Amino acid sequence: MSFAEIRSLLYPTQCVACGAGNVEICPRCESGLVSFRNEVTLHQLPLYSALYYNETSSHLILAAKESNDRACARYLASLMAMRFSRIHRDLSLDRYLLIPIPSSRKADRRRGFAHTVVLSKLLAHEVERSIGLSCRVLPLLAPTRAIADQSRLTAQQRQRNIYGAFTAQSRVRSDRRGAEGIIVVDDLVTTGSTMGEALRALKVASYEPDALLSACVAGRFLANKIGTSLPALRGTAKKEELWPC
Ligand SMILES: [Zn+2]
Repeated sequence: MSFAEIRSLLYPTQCVACGAGNVEICPRCESGLVSFRNEVTLHQLPLYSALYYNETSSHLILAAKESNDRACARYLASLMAMRFSRIHRDLSLDRYLLIPIPSSRKADRRRGFAHTVVLSKLLAHEVERSIGLSCRVLPLLAPTRAIADQSRLTAQQRQRNIYGAFTAQSRVRSDRRGAEGIIVVDDLVTTGSTMGEALRALKVASYEPDALLSACVAGRFLANKIGTSLPALRGTAKKEELWPC
């Protein structure tokens, strides 16, 4: 970890999106973020997300993922933790298990870290700290093969491209008492095909997730899902807006 990364971890004094001074996120960048508060289901499970995917949120996702910007990752995790309070209100379980969606091995090697595992750990920490819920992360999913770039594929092509791409460690009988909610975590839901493959692999391993959580949801997914386009949903994603209403 570089000095800049350690410093940003300890002293987050710059806007996570543009670097303006002495604020976690400046008003200009904050006004570019749009909270996601819709109730949608994906593969018969509730999908919770913090933000719509747009120019500003894509910048945060890319900085966290490709530049190892921990201040960005921590900011996204804090927004996701706000949504987690809604998950807890809906599920009311004793504790939670987060299962991150893996990137390809090649991407992990190039970045030097597993992005969604880092994001999930920051999220679990924030959920414990701010909501007081017990939350652990288990990276149970692993890629079985290389996955061709999905960005130019249609939803149907993505589904075919990713089928069988994940495997999950089989469930071992837990000796913990009380109910544990299982939440599958990703940074971005685009068409839902990756979530679908993760759920398939988890089912084979005897896991039955309760909900899905992402940092961002893409408009393309929403257009198919609820017939709502992004321009109709403009607004500011203030943190307090993400608390359950
Ligand atoms: Zn800014």
